[in-house]
Amino acid sequence: EKRWSLIGMTALVTGGTKGIGHAIVGELAGLGAIIHTCSRNETELNQALNQWSQLGFQVTGSVCDVSVRGQREKLMEDVSSLFQGKLNIFVSNAGTNVIKPTVEFTAEDFSFLMSTNFESSYHLCQLAHPLLKASGNGSIVFISSVAGVTAFDAGTVYAATKGAINQVTKNFACEWAKDNIRTNSIAPGLIRTPLNEEALKDEEFVKSFTSRIPLRRVGNPKEISSIVAYLCLPAASYVTGQIICVDGGITVNGFY
Ligand code: NDP
Repeated sequence: EKRWSLIGMTALVTGGTKGIGHAIVGELAGLGAIIHTCSRNETELNQALNQWSQLGFQVTGSVCDVSVRGQREKLMEDVSSLFQGKLNIFVSNAGTNVIKPTVEFTAEDFSFLMSTNFESSYHLCQLAHPLLKASGNGSIVFISSVAGVTAFDAGTVYAATKGAINQVTKNFACEWAKDNIRTNSIAPGLIRTPLNEEALKDEEFVKSFTSRIPLRRVGNPKEISSIVAYLCLPAASYVTGQIICVDGGITVNGFY
């Protein structure tokens, strides 16, 4: 077994067409993994698949809205038939945010965020479990957020979905260790992606936020994908149940 290679391993990465998910697909494929990804937009999915195929990467994709139960079931059926019932790596990355103060949050906003960010991750793990177990060597990586580790004065439901994922990370690590499945979370800080393109145009916001980050800058998707890849490698075989903040140090800066 090669300690620093993913050659021959199979992976499912949700939300691979943009931002952090796009970087994760590239990173894992570059290390030799065979990947399936998904997103809701077919045109963007096909564009991304074409790019990867030109780079020589083995990536396939399905249109799937992970907030919908039936579509999650269909996605895992596709994965199972593609990879002969076995999966080494599941990266639960697809997620979003609804930026509104709590007093303006509607019932629809609440259930949209809970199903997109939390229920999708939980249920896809349930569906992936037999495949991960059958591979003999499984790794789940959740893309959580520092918002679920520490508290800000906004984004309460988003933070709750990520806090829930952080707890599930620890429980699955205990529950599924016997099946040789490791489970970890990456909690990114502020990363430059289409998700927060608008917020990052606000220079005042960026200035005040980065002034509290020890490394004094916004991160980029490749700074997240590298550690996701590490967690999936044989080299990380003793790492499970961990929530790793990749945030330029913001969560340890007590004096901002
Ligand atoms: P982007 O919005 O830039 O990209 C999200 C990706 O997920 C796209 O490919 C999108 O494609 C897909 N996606 C979104 N919703 C769904 C859905 N319901 N079903 C299937 N695919 C979906 O987001 P980021 O890359 O910024 O975020 C990725 C993850 O990282 C999220 O979980 C987010 O919470 C987390 N994160 C991000 C941070 C940041 O600063 N950017 C910080 C901390 C955590 P499409 O829209 O076509 O479906």
